[in-house]
Amino acid sequence: MQYRRILLKLSGEALMGQREFGLDTSTIDRIADEIKGVLSVGVQISLVIGGGNIFRGVEAASRGLERGTADYMGMLATVINALAVQGLLERRGVQTRVQSAIPMSTVCEPYIRRRAIRHMEKGRVVIFAAGTGNPYFTTDTAAALRAVEIGCDALFKGTQVDGVYSADPHKESNAIRYKSLTYHDVLTQNLQVMDASAISLCRENRIPILVFSIHNSGEFASVVVGEGRYTIICGEEERNVGTGS
Ligand code: UDP
Repeated sequence: MQYRRILLKLSGEALMGQREFGLDTSTIDRIADEIKGVLSVGVQISLVIGGGNIFRGVEAASRGLERGTADYMGMLATVINALAVQGLLERRGVQTRVQSAIPMSTVCEPYIRRRAIRHMEKGRVVIFAAGTGNPYFTTDTAAALRAVEIGCDALFKGTQVDGVYSADPHKESNAIRYKSLTYHDVLTQNLQVMDASAISLCRENRIPILVFSIHNSGEFASVVVGEGRYTIICGEEERNVGTGS
């Protein structure tokens, strides 16, 4: 097994399905099946889910709300998503715990690093909610931070497409898909994978980032065992070892 413990980052958008806003339970059902599949082969899984399907701080701030307030609203949106995913995972018999960076003791556990690790060792899926707990950050940075803190071997980013492209493949038909990239490539070419602070955290702590499509059935399980289609982002030295496909 290549990866013993991983973190899967999903944007809020991944939970929307065909909807313009909010949650689509049949889409979450399918994602829950994918997660259960990976868990069943013995990989410890944690999740960070964004909130962009419900609320984005930056957009609300541009419409007149104070940025700090708007960002807290965005973090609360991620808690709603975390509870939705928890509910549908538990319906499949998967044990889960939600840990929030903003304590809300009647809803879920607070984030406690050692406790999160213990849950994972017991086979529970830990869902980290409320991002980093700080405004002016993103859930991408929260994902990188938690992955580092709890000792993940890799950060998986499930997106709308099957890897990192030179341009948006939905808009540019000649966009090139990369099999592998270095952290440096992503930062210097300003590729829109994750924000710079998330990439830097992974670079400093040598955590590879695997970008794949969360919408292709069975893909998550394939990528975890080094198959399927994905782009791997890693350091120059590791690049020759693992290249995406
Ligand atoms: N957010 C924040 N601090 C964090 C994580 C998130 O303030 O550590 C807020 C921010 O307003 C952001 C919103 O929560 O716009 C939703 O998160 P994000 O945009 O990362 O979600 P995604 O794009 O992944 O759905």
